Parts: sequence; structure tokens; C-alpha cells
Amino acid sequence: MNDCLFCKIIAGEIPSKKVYEDELCYAFCDISPLAPTHFLVVPKAHLDSAARITEENAPVVGHIFVVIAKLAGEMGFSDGFRVVTNCGQSAGQTVHHLHFHVLAGKELGSFH
Ligand code: AMP
Ligand code: ZN
Repeated sequence: MNDCLFCKIIAGEIPSKKVYEDELCYAFCDISPLAPTHFLVVPKAHLDSAARITEENAPVVGHIFVVIAKLAGEMGFSDGFRVVTNCGQSAGQTVHHLHFHVLAGKELGSFH
């Protein structure tokens, strides 16, 4: 996807503050953090949103959650953390490359 902001970040064409990288995913700090710790984890292969997850591409989503659990342990999120993905316009998705927000470091409040 030529015109995708997160594809450009993954390719290093737009700078980002890297948190983690492997062959399947890339994690970087959110530019407008909503918590003391706020980073995004994205699959390197472009996928528009969670609505595009299929049996075929689902393994990368599982992998991303393994990575998030590992990073949470390393970063010492002892008070807990939140993982969020906004999917589509009414959910407020602004970048159309699947991404998981990881938030921690403050009282996050109830979501429901
Ligand atoms: P969403 O609204 O769920 O699509 O989330 C998109 C997120 O990307 C927002 O939290 C933005 O702050 C973040 N964002 C936008 N541009 C950048 C950028 N260049 N580097 C890091 N994060 C970004
Ligand atoms: Zn993309």
C-alpha cells in the first residue's frame, strides 16, 4: 500500500520511535500518547483493519498478542494494561492499517 502511513513507518520512510520489531510486526510509540505508556503494534503486511482478519492471516494477530504479553512483562506493567483496536469510521479508526494500541501507566477507567 503506497499511500499508507504505517506502511511508510514500517519501511523507515517516516520516522518513528521503535519499541520492538521482528519479521512479522513492528511496534512504535504513538505520536499523541493517551497514557504514560502508549505504543502501537502493527503487522508488517498491510491489512486495513480487524474487519479483514481471516483464517489465513489470523496467525499474525496471535503473534502480535504474544509480543504484547512479552513487552508488558519486560516493561513491568504490574498494574495492568489495555489493548485496543479501532475498526472503521464509527469506532474512530483514523489510520487504515491494522494496529493495536497498548496503553499503560495510569488508571485507565472502565470501558463499558
Ligand atoms: P486510530 O485512531 O485507532 O486509527 O489510531 C491511530 C493512531 O496513530 C493515533 O493514536 C495517532 O496518534 C497515531 N499516529 C498518527 N500518526 C502517527 C505517527 N506518525 N507516528 C506515531 N503514531 C501516529
Ligand atoms: Zn499499511
